[in-house]
Amino acid sequence: MFGVLAPVESLYLHVPFCASKCSYCAFFSHQPEGEIVDRYVSALVKELEMVSGELQLRTVFFGGGTPSILSMHHWEKILVAVGALGVDEVNEWTVECNPATLSKDKAMLLKEGGVTRVSMGVQSMDPDLLVRLGRVHSRDMVYKSYDILRDAGFERVNLDLMFAIPGQSMKVWGDTLGEVIAMKPDHLSCYEVIYEQDTPLYEKMNAGEFDVKEDLACDMFEELVRLAEAEGYHQYEVANFARHYGVETFEIPDEACRHNVNYWCGGDYHGLGPSATGYVSGRRTTNVRNTTAYCDAIESDQRAFDEVEELTGLKRAGEIAAFGLRMNRGWPFERFNQVTGFDLREQWRRVMIDLVDRGLGVMEPGRFRLTPKGLRFADSSGAEFLV
Ligand code: SF4
Repeated sequence: MFGVLAPVESLYLHVPFCASKCSYCAFFSHQPEGEIVDRYVSALVKELEMVSGELQLRTVFFGGGTPSILSMHHWEKILVAVGALGVDEVNEWTVECNPATLSKDKAMLLKEGGVTRVSMGVQSMDPDLLVRLGRVHSRDMVYKSYDILRDAGFERVNLDLMFAIPGQSMKVWGDTLGEVIAMKPDHLSCYEVIYEQDTPLYEKMNAGEFDVKEDLACDMFEELVRLAEAEGYHQYEVANFARHYGVETFEIPDEACRHNVNYWCGGDYHGLGPSATGYVSGRRTTNVRNTTAYCDAIESDQRAFDEVEELTGLKRAGEIAAFGLRMNRGWPFERFNQVTGFDLREQWRRVMIDLVDRGLGVMEPGRFRLTPKGLRFADSSGAEFLV
């Protein structure tokens, strides 16, 4: 099954610039100073040309960093380059944005350039927590930018939130959820705060400036699932909730992020830009985590790989099992077999029985999925499939 050279349908492009660094963030990003932004945009366009022969795109995702921090001039160049790939078949093109870096003109430019979906990082609607997280935007900017997106004609908008933030009470979390849901986004992504090494938040935790409250985090997650479902958002992955406008029964709601569904289902994708990871035909590549080094490599007609890993079929199948089980529908056995060439019931029978015994998994006719408790601990449940 692995090694078959089919066109790559998904493309991730990393924009490594942010106005300032949020206190919890471990993504690769830095301030857009000097000539580096010009160099980066030219290099990204060139890297795109390097892989263009392998692409037949269905989904495109610009993440970061803060893609919306790029100027109109830079976006014009990028939109032309992506458009030149022939994006007629692209049914989802997402750009992440920060509420502080979006203007009416930029939103119109993205829309007219073919972008179909915007994912906006809100994180919280509480002014004190926004400061604590180091966010550069205010709650008013969230409302303003959301209106700009809708006025520009974006029909698919995701809002990102965080919970279990130090100092966040259940009431504050409930208020943020209520306010955001009242805006009627099509999709919600809600992540528990992670304490990543080398971040200011991690240092503060280590210094004992606050306690990590596991029980409160669990209660917040339960409240999220309850409220989102009550308001018509269908949980389709641990942290992701989407509207479904069709009437037919479904496994994945209409407004789900198709690009991410491709990740979770083990699909191939190219990753461009500094620090971006790609996976194509059994080979995982990671670009160098340094924008100058990235530009140097691409300008010298080289790929900017920092790491290349050839995965065995079984190792990749284990990863695909773990990723796919993050989704509420779990893994249908037949589909898993088609994607990986392995049979879940043979290879991971004991693991699945153990998860069922611990109340974390459910064996259904034709599929295995995690229970709500298993989803809450999807990372550790999924880790048992890794080989
Ligand atoms: S805006 Fe996003 S990528 Fe940039 S520092 Fe904050 S969390 Fe990280």
